[in-house]
Amino acid sequence: MGVSGASGVTEQVAEILDKYPGGIRLVDSIEYLVAWARANSLWPLIYGTACCAMEMMSTGSSRHDWARFGVEVARATPRQADLIVLAGTIVEKMGPNLVTLYEQMPAPKYVIAMGSCAISGGPFYYDSYSVIRGGDRLIPVDVYVPGCPPRPEALLYGIMELQKKIRKEGRRNPWKVGKLLDTPFVDTHSMAKQEWTAQEKEKESGLQLARERFKTENPDYKPAKPQRLAKEKFAAVTRVEVRNNGLDNASILTAVQKVFPSVTLFRQTDITPDNVAGLGPEYILDLEIGQGQYTELVRFLKEDKDLGIDLLLQVTAVDWQDHFDVLVHLLSTRHGHKLFLRCPVAKERAEIHTISDIFRGADWHEREVFDLFGIRFIDHPDMRRIFLQDDFPGYPLRKDFEDPERVVKRPY
Ligand code: SF4
Repeated sequence: MGVSGASGVTEQVAEILDKYPGGIRLVDSIEYLVAWARANSLWPLIYGTACCAMEMMSTGSSRHDWARFGVEVARATPRQADLIVLAGTIVEKMGPNLVTLYEQMPAPKYVIAMGSCAISGGPFYYDSYSVIRGGDRLIPVDVYVPGCPPRPEALLYGIMELQKKIRKEGRRNPWKVGKLLDTPFVDTHSMAKQEWTAQEKEKESGLQLARERFKTENPDYKPAKPQRLAKEKFAAVTRVEVRNNGLDNASILTAVQKVFPSVTLFRQTDITPDNVAGLGPEYILDLEIGQGQYTELVRFLKEDKDLGIDLLLQVTAVDWQDHFDVLVHLLSTRHGHKLFLRCPVAKERAEIHTISDIFRGADWHEREVFDLFGIRFIDHPDMRRIFLQDDFPGYPLRKDFEDPERVVKRPY
């Protein structure tokens, strides 16, 4: 990195020296020195987007320590980096940012695609609406390191391959291996392996001698036969009863039905509190209400002192093909009980009132539902897509969504 501007110097030196006898040779030597320095002082940009990033971090940490190869000082800014290791899945929304980062890096700059995702989209190649099928669709990749994820040794090997490539760069013929560039690469891994093998051999021959000496000194020795241990019988473990946290379902339902008699239970026809009690403590109450009373019911659940529901866990949706259900998952942190609340939304007019004014946390959840299902939340403070790019065609979690790049067809 520190020598990125040096090729300009060699250009100038070449202009002066090329015409003298031996000048070309001298300039080539300087150039090789520059390339060598560049190869051994790579500064990587911090760029890890998924699981492969763990392996990359491990490569940088003490056990594998990529600093041994001159890959040092992972930078948090592209302006001070000349290597980007694409470690992980690259999604469509991130694409333009990756290109910007790459463009902000000073030349000469290099790219390693680490892992199947960065090489080709990996496990997301066939059935994904959001993953870019390979970093090289956006920026030029110098070295590909296969694996899912590749181990640190594989990344180190990739770095060594990149270093070889950089050492071959030159002003006269950037990719041709000239005489000067034939310098053998010092493969410390193989050297260490050979050393270890030699040491192991030496140790094994010493052990063999010791075994033979023992046999001569103890001719009657017989090793003990391994004994099979009798299987021990353990007492049966008593199952711990499920802890019945908070109010029971029947009491919650009674309290809700008192104020909202039209509330029903999802997929339960007979919804008397007795029947609900019969569903057992593991059943989580799944209330259903029409759009007219949806926000009122959410507010009631939050404000009722006895129910004490104070935490919104999630807002999501289900596509039932003929309609959507918007689903709210609520919890009482004080008492421990939780419940679902669902509200049907028509497909032709996919909108419902926001509850972000009641539970602030609903804001991003509702944006996610909008992004993936296309359900609009009326009076939401910032109704924009959250994951996908603004011009993404369609809503990928709708059952009728067709991704033009999809290879696997859904079975409906
Ligand atoms: S290649 Fe495998 S390990 Fe690496 S980011 Fe993709 S899924 Fe994760």
